[in-house]
Amino acid sequence: MNYIDFHVDTLYRLFYRAEDEQGDLCQNNCQVDLARLMGSGYTGQIFACFLDLAKTPRFATPYQDVLAMIDLFDQQLAQYGDKVRFADNYAQYEANRRQGLLSAFLSLEEGGVLEGDLSRLDTLYQRGVRVMNLTWNHENCLGFPHRPPEFQSKGLTSFGLETVERMDELGMVVDVSHLSDQGFWDVIRCGKRPFMATHSNARAIRNVSRNLTDEMIRALADRGGIMGLNFYSDFLSPEPTGRVEHMVQHLRHIMNQGGEQIVGLGTDFDGMDTTPEIQHVGQISLLVQAMEKAGFTARQIEGICFRNGEDFFRRYWGA
Ligand SMILES: [Zn+2]
Repeated sequence: MNYIDFHVDTLYRLFYRAEDEQGDLCQNNCQVDLARLMGSGYTGQIFACFLDLAKTPRFATPYQDVLAMIDLFDQQLAQYGDKVRFADNYAQYEANRRQGLLSAFLSLEEGGVLEGDLSRLDTLYQRGVRVMNLTWNHENCLGFPHRPPEFQSKGLTSFGLETVERMDELGMVVDVSHLSDQGFWDVIRCGKRPFMATHSNARAIRNVSRNLTDEMIRALADRGGIMGLNFYSDFLSPEPTGRVEHMVQHLRHIMNQGGEQIVGLGTDFDGMDTTPEIQHVGQISLLVQAMEKAGFTARQIEGICFRNGEDFFRRYWGA
């Protein structure tokens, strides 16, 4: 089986590196590396530049940290060009796939690094960023995150709306995972193009603010968007370990609400503080086994694993 994953924080791990973390993009002791991605049959991986604005950056500003993280990404892709190649649209993905190479897309998980300067968005686009979360878990110049509860009714700032407009022009996908509910509806109202919730589940199955309501799932589907199943335990169920049965429940519900094309994978690997039943990318086939056991059709399983992602890339960037 092939796989496309919309969100992992491996670059964050490699860049900020805790003492017990070893290796590089090709091989490491985190949850994602090229060796295991290739071994599992992955054809596409979106790597997020994530940072926490509440922490002291390594360089002078969070924005400079992001640029340095992109340098690291570029360097690692150059070093392992026999396995992986940069992709910024569907055509490039398809060309890479035909050569047996993994496509590495670049995303940014914290629009706050723009600090009100729209020219930075253009720079980030030029550096290869093709997907951006408007917020992480902090209020920023673009809008409000999903928590605390009073933020859910707060929408995008005027700079946030301007940024969405510019992203639509550039061809940089708006990512609403982590965003407030009102922010989501502002993207529906003001955005023109399909967008993503790269790593969010169904709130009807697990009632946490990071997950999407049924109404949101349907609106995302109507816009031609897509969401990625998140493996983080707390977004799956109240149990301490996110199990494949929970994943299947979310998938079934999401497809019932938004149709079979609406959902792919956004594991959040290397961005979690608990370990799910599927512990790393090398074990991703456990999800396929669970979907088969649950009676999903071959078409549904392929859709979730990679085809829906491919179709989204084609819808968004053209063939
Ligand atoms: Zn996240």
